[in-house]
Amino acid sequence: MSKGYAVPSAGAPLEPFAFERRDLRESDVALDILFAGICHSDIHQAREEWGPALFPMVPGHEIVGRVTSIGNAVTKFAVGDLIGVGVFIDSCRKCPQCLSGLQQYCVEGMTGTYNTLERDGKTVAFGGYSDSFVIDQDYAVRVPESLKLEGVAPLMCAGVTLYSPLKHWKAGPGKRVAIMGLGGLGHMGVKFAHALGAHVTVLSHSEGKRADALSMGADAFVVMNSDEAFAANANSFDLILNTVSADLVLEKYLQLLDVDGALVVIGLPSKPYQFGAGTLLGKRRSIGGSMIGGMPELQEMLDFCGEHGIVSDVEVIAADYINTAYDRTVASDVKYRFVIDASTF
Ligand code: NAP
Ligand code: ZN
Ligand code: ZN
Repeated sequence: MSKGYAVPSAGAPLEPFAFERRDLRESDVALDILFAGICHSDIHQAREEWGPALFPMVPGHEIVGRVTSIGNAVTKFAVGDLIGVGVFIDSCRKCPQCLSGLQQYCVEGMTGTYNTLERDGKTVAFGGYSDSFVIDQDYAVRVPESLKLEGVAPLMCAGVTLYSPLKHWKAGPGKRVAIMGLGGLGHMGVKFAHALGAHVTVLSHSEGKRADALSMGADAFVVMNSDEAFAANANSFDLILNTVSADLVLEKYLQLLDVDGALVVIGLPSKPYQFGAGTLLGKRRSIGGSMIGGMPELQEMLDFCGEHGIVSDVEVIAADYINTAYDRTVASDVKYRFVIDASTF
């Protein structure tokens, strides 16, 4: 029996929940979860902000743990290995995206870690707010032993979600990168962009985060609460990563891009954005989007973290604090990711 926390119905508080994990298949590994991060996407789904969801829901897709048993066909991991599980647990394995390691863009759709049925169409996928997990070896990654484990869990979603667009849009020396929102995702963006050698600016709505941003590696911090702040930063970035899920006037942020600059949407607000065509074509600006990262990139990101000593800044909490942590996350009051100590389930 697995012990965890579940959302019984849309928007209801999470409560203790006991359930069975699936039996170990040939290529599965079982793990004891050590830490599970709280992503804002968990809150969106628990509160049904993205459309109908599946309840009871055990959220959680930032998982780190140790392998406790392996199926007969497992070759990638052994009992005792430290592994991570992220936002998906399966995909079709045969489409061009799956074959090129971009499983998050699978033609048939990736299988989420929770709030969905597995590919057999009947097994409910329960996520990481629990003490154990079962995962196909192909959808887990190796975690460097050198890193602080509580800070590793958020790398599995927040980490790779920022690492992937930074690599894709070639952040590096000479590139002026701005990160919108210093939350769970944003603070990982600052750390990665800095480690990649880019010039990093945080665009925040919270003055109180300035010192933290600078200590994480940001070169500049701007509170975007006035026309003056926008005017002073016009045409000054090559890449803007937008991690904010509140409804913002994107047009104003597009104007911060220099010629050939790109704004990448990562946060998922409920309403569509509006912007003028002239804002794009006048400076050959572009707007894009990016969703988590595929399996090879997840491993690459963890190895990069191992080499550079990068982990998430976390507040470790006990399971009975999850509901408060949700409210604090929504209020932008988290430094900078809540991580549940799985021994408290
Ligand atoms: P988070 O920790 O809550 O951080 C979001 C940040 O946005 C806040 O810390 C805050 O930063 C800023 N913000 C919040 N309210 C704002 C407002 N009213 N106006 C301006 N800025 C505001 O959330 P997260 O876990 O990083 O997730 C962020 C978003 O990304 C969510 O929508 C989540 O679902 C989505 N997401 C997307 C992917 C993907 O693959 N694309 C993956 C994971 C999550 P400041 O205080 O610095 O302004
Ligand atoms: Zn997430
Ligand atoms: Zn596929």
